[in-house]
Amino acid sequence: MENKSIIETAEYFAIKQAIKYIEHEPEKNLNKLMDWADKFDKDNLYQSQRAVFHNVLEHPESNWYQLIMKVFQLDTGVRKTFIENFIINASLIGSRRQKKVRDKEQCNVPWAILLDPTSACNLHCTGCWAAEYGHNLNLDLNTIDSIIKQGKELGTYMYIYTGGEPMVRKSDLIKICEMHPDCEFLTFTNGTLIDEKFCQEMLRVKNFVPAISLEGFEKANDGRRGSGDFEIVKKAMALLKSHKLPFGISTCYTSANYKDISSEEYFDMIIDAGALFVWFFHYMPVGNDAVTDLLPTPEQRKTVYDRIRNMRNTKSIFSMDFQNDAEFVGGCIAGGRNYLHINAAGDVEPCVFIHYSNTNIHNSTLLDALKCPIFMAYHNGQPFNENMLRPCPMLENPECLSEMVKKSGAKSTDLQSPESVEHLCNKCIHYAKNWAEMADKLWNDNK
Ligand code: SF4
Repeated sequence: MENKSIIETAEYFAIKQAIKYIEHEPEKNLNKLMDWADKFDKDNLYQSQRAVFHNVLEHPESNWYQLIMKVFQLDTGVRKTFIENFIINASLIGSRRQKKVRDKEQCNVPWAILLDPTSACNLHCTGCWAAEYGHNLNLDLNTIDSIIKQGKELGTYMYIYTGGEPMVRKSDLIKICEMHPDCEFLTFTNGTLIDEKFCQEMLRVKNFVPAISLEGFEKANDGRRGSGDFEIVKKAMALLKSHKLPFGISTCYTSANYKDISSEEYFDMIIDAGALFVWFFHYMPVGNDAVTDLLPTPEQRKTVYDRIRNMRNTKSIFSMDFQNDAEFVGGCIAGGRNYLHINAAGDVEPCVFIHYSNTNIHNSTLLDALKCPIFMAYHNGQPFNENMLRPCPMLENPECLSEMVKKSGAKSTDLQSPESVEHLCNKCIHYAKNWAEMADKLWNDNK
């Protein structure tokens, strides 16, 4: 880990020793590791997470405990690197540094940076802009390197690739892992470019984790991604599992697939395949051509909310339902509060779904981007609603995004067809109004 203070260095080595220690007998020594973590987290940045972890360790029969044990079945080098990079660098040391910068600069500082290495893709999915557009926009290696170097100065050690299909540039992605061995890299991917050679590279660099996109079972998935995709993805998951490599699933839910993707069968399928985590994204009607028919009704969204919470108590997989889980992160995480997004053209956007920006990383520093008008509007406006089931300035509070974009003078960064903020937000007004009633009831009932 570069650029550490003397205190950070001492703490870093103390925790590294502790991790070495639990590797021998994890079941016995995890409690001791948690005692170290309690002492280390002096500012109580992770108080609630530590409490949850202590509780899990007291219940070895629980699904969460089983999940932790699965982590100890991963490749040893990959696991150790993950613990160092994700827990020590990104979360413990990184968060503390982020807080310092945040206090000094009075702006948001992200825990993770999402970036699109390329706008190119090897598939032609229905409704995806990358299929029709731009096989020529790329963030070059030096730019990505510079973003990460600047990010580490701010305390950001977690980098997540979106796209396009990031794996189109897999040799560059591996190079970046080598250049920054103290960071953890995760990629959203269609999974079709994961092969034996790439698994060997993942084992060598140890700090790269894929999140494979699935839309549901075979029929729904191939209907969108193309015939045969499901089988290819299954093979990729089997390959990763056979090499004891960690991976997860990313799923977008809509009015069409919400039942399948929240079913017990779907969870069992991805757990059997070896996935350790699943991230659920609510469909967003972003883009001039995006339809509103795929937006879930309030009842459909509630079904997803209920079922995923139920699975969370029973299935040995880490699940996040970003639109319904905002209560665990204090609302909207965009605008650099927890993350930001840089597209393949270098535009720095508050969120992967919000394609408006004042800044491009080719002519701005990361810190200056965090202080630009739209990011400061996020900083000053968060949370956008006291009800954490209505976190989004676009989907559930469209008047907020409309105002922020107008006041900040941010421009559309849509690479295919620039969309006005009125056009985007108008698509959400009806949805927001309908959901508000259900959301308020759910929120008040569960307080
Ligand atoms: S802007 Fe909306 S979609 Fe993006 S992080 Fe915030 S709540 Fe989520």
